[in-house]
Amino acid sequence: MSGTEEPGTPSAETATGETAAVRRLEDWDGTALRGLVDDYGSPLYVLDLERVRENYRRLTAAFPDAAILYAVKANALGDVLETLHDAGAGLECASAGEVRRALEAGGTGADVHYTAVNPPARDLDWVVDAWAAHPDLTVTVGAEDTVDRLADRGYDGRLCLRVNPGIGAGHHENVETGGHAKFGVPADRAVDALADAADRGFDVVGLHAHVGSGVSSEQLDAHREFVSRMGDLARSVADAVGSLEFVDVGGGFGVPYRDDEEPLDLEAVADATRSALGDVDATLAIEPGRYVVADAGVLLTRVNTVKEARETIAVGVDAGMTTLLRPAMYDASHPIRNLTADSSAAGERDPIAQTVAGPICESGDVFCTDRELPATERGDVLAIGNAGAYGYEMASQYNSRPRPASVVIDGDAVRLARRRETVEDVTRLETSRVPTDDEPE
Ligand SMILES: *Cc1c(COP(=O)(O)O)cnc(C)c1O
Repeated sequence: MSGTEEPGTPSAETATGETAAVRRLEDWDGTALRGLVDDYGSPLYVLDLERVRENYRRLTAAFPDAAILYAVKANALGDVLETLHDAGAGLECASAGEVRRALEAGGTGADVHYTAVNPPARDLDWVVDAWAAHPDLTVTVGAEDTVDRLADRGYDGRLCLRVNPGIGAGHHENVETGGHAKFGVPADRAVDALADAADRGFDVVGLHAHVGSGVSSEQLDAHREFVSRMGDLARSVADAVGSLEFVDVGGGFGVPYRDDEEPLDLEAVADATRSALGDVDATLAIEPGRYVVADAGVLLTRVNTVKEARETIAVGVDAGMTTLLRPAMYDASHPIRNLTADSSAAGERDPIAQTVAGPICESGDVFCTDRELPATERGDVLAIGNAGAYGYEMASQYNSRPRPASVVIDGDAVRLARRRETVEDVTRLETSRVPTDDEPE
């Protein structure tokens, strides 16, 4: 699909009005992106809100009857939350901080689900307070302890139980949650746990599971197995405890990170889900994060070093694992495009195997190893694709490196959505620090 689109019109819709299932890195307007680095510096996150809307619309088209809750942790920027809330999405939150940001973005209790994973007391205190003002808020618990702790705080509102279906899916073991002891109540305890909560006066509304991130078309059988277990469980709960308002099968809708990967067949996933849940008398809920924002974002970075290493060309850039952690943490592959080499003024550059690495003193601080890219020169601007999900959210200040700025594009409008941090921001919280006036950027 990308081959038929003009590079300058990344949001092109097909003749039928459907939006492209994937936006590849080469679909972005390279000249416009280079201009953003001139204006806002590097490294720089860029997020296209119209692409966020398109991704959300494809989900609503494939799952017309489902409640769709955006998983805030994928990208919690206020502009993203407001855009999705305006488009009709609910917001699934992993912490009190995310609940707060969801409410500040215009969410009301009915739009917000808080998924409590080993929740710190501070989080529960905050959310129960917020519940007083937003009584339609839903809390999803993954342990019976959490039910007790909510009861201790006087909470008897909407409660959803996260179960561990004993089945995992995902692109890396760090994001497989379904079979992991940490997540959810074992499925065979679900009926008792919900019956108990209902007896204690909670408003039991839902059953939930999230088996991990990176569900792909090849793993459709695993997904089918998972949703059919959820269907069975929902029927048992309905028999023993009463009917549920929703069954939430979580997120994990994968996106292609490599150029040769096909986009997820959403219709196939939706069909498999519908047929497995079949006669269950409850609304289907899904919680996509990555799918909504991944290909709406790129990370721009400038080359500062090019050197011949023993077996490769080592290219040094100003973004690192502190900017985009996924390659270091998950061994994730992100597409990389040299925007300077793409411009006609640069002339033809021969492809050559190169290793692109950041400025952090860690051997894992590498974006790609021996990848064929056009010969790089110092000063070039590189774009790293699919950076809209779990990019800025996982950024850190390790090595005293301030976090980058974020720019949003919305149609013809471009604006700074979050300024670049300074070293002053990094040291601001130290109580014994003597501030200096001359801060290096
Ligand atoms: C992370 C998470 C999601 C979203 O996962 P994606 O892979 O980004 O779609 C949804 N639900 C829960 C409970 C999560 O922890």
